[in-house]
Amino acid sequence: MFVSDCLGLNALGHLTIGGRDTVELAQTYGTPLYVMDEDEIRRACASYRESINKYYGGRGLVTYASKAFCCKAACKIAMEEGLGLDVVSIGELYTAQSVGFPPERIFFHGNNKTVQELLAALEYGVGQIVVDNLSELELLNQLAISHNQKASILFRIKPGVDAHTHAFIRTGQIDSKFGFALETGEALGAVRMAAGMEGIELKGLHCHIGSQIFDIEPFEHAAEVMLGFIAEIREKTGLALKILDLGGGFGIKYLPEHDPVQYDRYMMQVSETVKKSCAALGINTPYIVIEPGRSIVGPAGVTLYTVGSVKEIPGVRTYVAVDGGMCDNPRYILYQSEYEAMVANKASQPRLRTVTIAGKCCESGDLIGERMPLQEVQAGDIIAVLSTGAYNYSMASNYNRIPKPAVVMLRDGKDRVVVRRETLDDIIRNDLL
Ligand SMILES: *Cc1c(COP(=O)(O)O)cnc(C)c1O
Repeated sequence: MFVSDCLGLNALGHLTIGGRDTVELAQTYGTPLYVMDEDEIRRACASYRESINKYYGGRGLVTYASKAFCCKAACKIAMEEGLGLDVVSIGELYTAQSVGFPPERIFFHGNNKTVQELLAALEYGVGQIVVDNLSELELLNQLAISHNQKASILFRIKPGVDAHTHAFIRTGQIDSKFGFALETGEALGAVRMAAGMEGIELKGLHCHIGSQIFDIEPFEHAAEVMLGFIAEIREKTGLALKILDLGGGFGIKYLPEHDPVQYDRYMMQVSETVKKSCAALGINTPYIVIEPGRSIVGPAGVTLYTVGSVKEIPGVRTYVAVDGGMCDNPRYILYQSEYEAMVANKASQPRLRTVTIAGKCCESGDLIGERMPLQEVQAGDIIAVLSTGAYNYSMASNYNRIPKPAVVMLRDGKDRVVVRRETLDDIIRNDLL
């Protein structure tokens, strides 16, 4: 009945997450509020971990793409679950370091890493730096040499695969700001260059074809293209690459009609493709890395808001205004991402209304969603927006100087704050006169 397994209904007809009453949580902590079910996150970590072990015989690693939801608690959970961690900035790296995340399981991504970021990665001993372009390769080589190190790297490759998803979250095609192109020979040139660099050890290749993908086929296609390139590299340069990182992008259920692929099926099918391709190409099966972000944390989160007003415009639409908006969830205004919402205190009632949920920011486009089915609603009701665990807190801003909400984590039915609510002092903390 619900888009996520951690959601339910209690005897009061209230929406629950992780068995806890969302209305009560809203009363305790105030709104807007992000609530995350840690048990759900750990279940997702475990099922990815078990399935990569099963299909690659332990020769694989699941790294959590921390950009989906990055804070100390999230890094600690990934660490305890034995996952690796993707970071794309010094801020994410610093967060990982703050909980003592094992550096060898960290992958540093990004299309424009700064000197400061590359130095921080070398200093912490980050396992793999995923190099995006030639300027970065040269810079990293120099930095590594001057620090008497050899940087262990992967190359980010554009495999030229069209994943059927929104253009802004599609990254595998040639017209993308990320990575080296295969078709033009750019990638092979980079491999030859890296082979001669004293400060660089090229360990493998990486691709990431997009996000919120529901089909397995683009992943299989990408794996075939990447393995073909590994074989070509061996043939033309003699270099045997050991790691193939196939990226993340597994879709989740935001709406009832969404039908995401089960991780286990993905892993089974892609691992078969990988093994078949390797056999056909006469290369050893590489160590496989996958990088889920959204699918680890997305279904585990809800955002709770209080309704301030309901504005019916006859013949036009009904606006339900909540006490957050694009400042805590910019995904609708960014790429028209759709969510399910319900009145948490009337969750057992049918959703007979069709409304637009609007935020409180000074932008007409500040909406959480349009044409959303909702229960009868009035000022004071608590609205829950579902599946907001990924790319909500991590994309939040202080637009209109609105303090960011707290994040409450639930584990074994117990609640704790893992990110405190910003205060007004936080808002002016960096201001100088
Ligand atoms: C964003 C990203 C991911 C995670 O994508 P999801 O859609 O959240 O699974 C993985 N790898 C890289 C390189 C990314 O940029």
